[in-house]
Amino acid sequence: MMRNIARTHEVKGTHTMDKFGRNILRTCMGADAKRVLCIVLTGLVAVQPVLLSVGCKKKDTKGKTVITIKPPQPIDYGDPLIKVEPRADKWETEHYVGRVMISTTHDDHYYTNVNTTKSNGLAQTQDGKITATVHLPVDWNGKTVYFRVIDPDDQSPYEPDIMGDDNFGGSGALSSTQDVAVPASINGQEVAAAEAVLSITTQHSGDNYQVQASLDPLFGEESNIGGSEIFLAWKRIYLERDVMYKYGATLLADFIPDGDANDDVLTADNTADFEVGDAVTIFGNSGNSELTSVRSKTATTLTVGDLSSGFSEYAGVKRTDNNEVLDIVPIDLLPQAYGDLTDGRDGGCFVEFVPLQQGSGPIPKYKELPDNPFDFMDYWFEGKGDANNLFQHVTAYWFRNYGLGGLGFSATHSAVTARMRYINAVQAEENFVHELTHCFLETWEAGTYIDDWSDTKDWSGTQYCVMNYNADDGDGLVEFSKALLYVLRRSADPQWR
Ligand SMILES: [Zn+2]
Repeated sequence: MMRNIARTHEVKGTHTMDKFGRNILRTCMGADAKRVLCIVLTGLVAVQPVLLSVGCKKKDTKGKTVITIKPPQPIDYGDPLIKVEPRADKWETEHYVGRVMISTTHDDHYYTNVNTTKSNGLAQTQDGKITATVHLPVDWNGKTVYFRVIDPDDQSPYEPDIMGDDNFGGSGALSSTQDVAVPASINGQEVAAAEAVLSITTQHSGDNYQVQASLDPLFGEESNIGGSEIFLAWKRIYLERDVMYKYGATLLADFIPDGDANDDVLTADNTADFEVGDAVTIFGNSGNSELTSVRSKTATTLTVGDLSSGFSEYAGVKRTDNNEVLDIVPIDLLPQAYGDLTDGRDGGCFVEFVPLQQGSGPIPKYKELPDNPFDFMDYWFEGKGDANNLFQHVTAYWFRNYGLGGLGFSATHSAVTARMRYINAVQAEENFVHELTHCFLETWEAGTYIDDWSDTKDWSGTQYCVMNYNADDGDGLVEFSKALLYVLRRSADPQWR
């Protein structure tokens, strides 16, 4: 019985990809190769971690990790006359084939980009729904087409079985299980078309689906069945990335204008970057600013020429002629931790990130952020009024009391990385992945190892989970434990503000 036509092809062999954007040959074969950790995933069998020692020392895994990922599962589209769209060539690029967005709060961007529906539209145009359209020969007009949806096997390497029916949020719901084919002109082709809309999970990223169609309402063993692409549910999270000026100060008290023409005194977190006579700009979070100059200073106050407007606590002061900002913490490691391949073969949790163009612009230098910096971060969080699925990340100067210089806090939806505490960008970037992940976690679920020293490894057993303090924070490896991957997959869209 064709319970699952998507899985009738045997897969053999392996292919290699470099998960970390590095040159595999150079990393593997280079004279300085220290240690290669190789995870071989073959065909449809279980994960087989293999450790290869290449004349090497155990300690150094920097840039020397190669993960071999099993090849993609070929999709069985079934009967060629019962063509269920969208198929692979209807997505924006090969990379996004099958990706269906659970939610797209801030941009409404979806990945199907060739018309396939009866009304000659795109298959996904709204959150959590995709239209499966059967394109039949024109002279099949008037035939009744039956639909069903199946739940194919999860391709994640940490889920090694080959059985379907493993979605966490069920197998999806079809708007109808039958439709009568009507003449339609779709993407320049005349066909007889019938369709049904699949509603996917609202929450469980990585759930997968195939819509199947037949003229036999029972989908009997002898019947002809067509199948769609395999649809994968992905979450999208948006990032506001705020970066501090390299020089300057943050006001630690409101300034209320006094109506006279005398010099005014501002209370600041530090005044080290200013000298008497400097032209300075005072700036607030609504784009308000005023130019003046420094008349005198103490360690915590700046006396400046008369200001005509008020400024709140956490407004900034900068030298008017200096606009240097800190090097922004890169976000390139996010796909390694959260997943990049649409079908999940690289061991992620099916979450993609989109940086928003609009942030607050550079935010003031706060020389040493206090233990709880969130009032300051809130003040500068441009998107906080509409923060559904939106995280703020602040590239900060320095952070008090945190050896690794970072903090994330779910209740405020924000993460901060103290750039100047790191000796290199990789450390800062790994910290960013760690802190950002806290934004998903309302409690220390998934195990007590989060923010603890423990033996909890990542899913591949290559390193410690990036949420574990035992993880090496400079090796460029940021993978989650299997338990945490499932927590992230099932977490609802963050809408906490
Ligand atoms: Zn932490």
